[in-house]
Amino acid sequence: MHGWNGKLLVVNLGLGEIREESLDLDILVKFIGGRGIGAKILWDMTDENTDPLSPDNPLIIACGPLTGIAPMCGRYSITSKSPLTGTIFDSSAGGFFGAEFKSTGYDCIIITGASEKPVYLDVTSDEQVLKDAAGIWGLNTRDTTARLSKDGRSVACIGRAGERLIPIANIMSDYAHACGRGGLGAVMGSKNLKAVTVKWGRLPNVANKSYFTKSRREITRLLRANPVTSKGLSVYGTPVLMNLINYMHILPTDNYRSSFSEHAECLSGESINDTYDLKKESCHGCMIACKRSIKDSGLEVPEYETLWAFGADCNNYNLDDIVAANRLCNDYGVDTITCGSTIASYLEYTGKNAENLVQIVKEVCEGKGKGSELALGSKRYTELIGRD
Ligand code: SF4
Repeated sequence: MHGWNGKLLVVNLGLGEIREESLDLDILVKFIGGRGIGAKILWDMTDENTDPLSPDNPLIIACGPLTGIAPMCGRYSITSKSPLTGTIFDSSAGGFFGAEFKSTGYDCIIITGASEKPVYLDVTSDEQVLKDAAGIWGLNTRDTTARLSKDGRSVACIGRAGERLIPIANIMSDYAHACGRGGLGAVMGSKNLKAVTVKWGRLPNVANKSYFTKSRREITRLLRANPVTSKGLSVYGTPVLMNLINYMHILPTDNYRSSFSEHAECLSGESINDTYDLKKESCHGCMIACKRSIKDSGLEVPEYETLWAFGADCNNYNLDDIVAANRLCNDYGVDTITCGSTIASYLEYTGKNAENLVQIVKEVCEGKGKGSELALGSKRYTELIGRD
């Protein structure tokens, strides 16, 4: 088999069992990619009655035939039933976890059941074991990652939000890469699974090396020739979209009551580059390197979506506050887009402004004060307070 490993791991946390199975090439090709195989497995294992937070709901980590091998193919996918929407849900993240996972010799991990005590799953090409997570339960994602990545492992984990099963909790890998939206962090928390760690092994071979090398050169040439990838994203990151999307009048603004903001320029990639001294960062095998952090503080520069969610949608144009809110969410393991959108609803209904944005985000992360209601996401929060 080329591109794929042809193997999956089935982990039953309730029984503490891990077994290896073969993956059928026909299925891998028919449902190509991590998202495809994840959706196929979820479809086979669940039905409309499966409770997303029950042990029966599988958490499926998967990658595709190009993961770790082709340029810009470091992403991996996690699929499960969403505790936020109750529907089939998939989220993907960049960074290095996907490529490292693929190099362990597996294409997919299916995690079912729930452990009695907190555990984490450690996967290398030699050994696949469940380990005691009592010492890291209660830590947020940065501390968890620092503890578990010491010998070169890549870490996907939940923070305290996932442990508390809030439906907007996400899974963070390599510190700053989120499997966000739908509440996958709560699914992981419901299983008492704190983290999955993987260590670099060996990637599968490609079928035709010379053709692959030729294709890789061509992809690289196209990425260099395209101004969006070689200039826009590479110089400004995803916030390069801010001015363009505002110009097109499709920018979520004022809790979606408007699609244009007169102040959007303050949130743009150009403004961010002028405001902060930045360090460029990249995912595995990517020449675009759209990720950036702020040199003196080490804080992540928020993505375009986070900028509109905590920014224009909340009528907030304070970049420092958005950067701080983004870090809080990443650390607690909370989805920035749903968090910002729900706060935008709250601000509209209460007539308040975003002056205390960082405090509100902290309350959401910790489930204190209004935060316990806002952590339900905008739909349930709106229903809870009797608005539509
Ligand atoms: S650095 Fe940016 S463009 Fe490159 S893989 Fe990561 S998210 Fe994609």
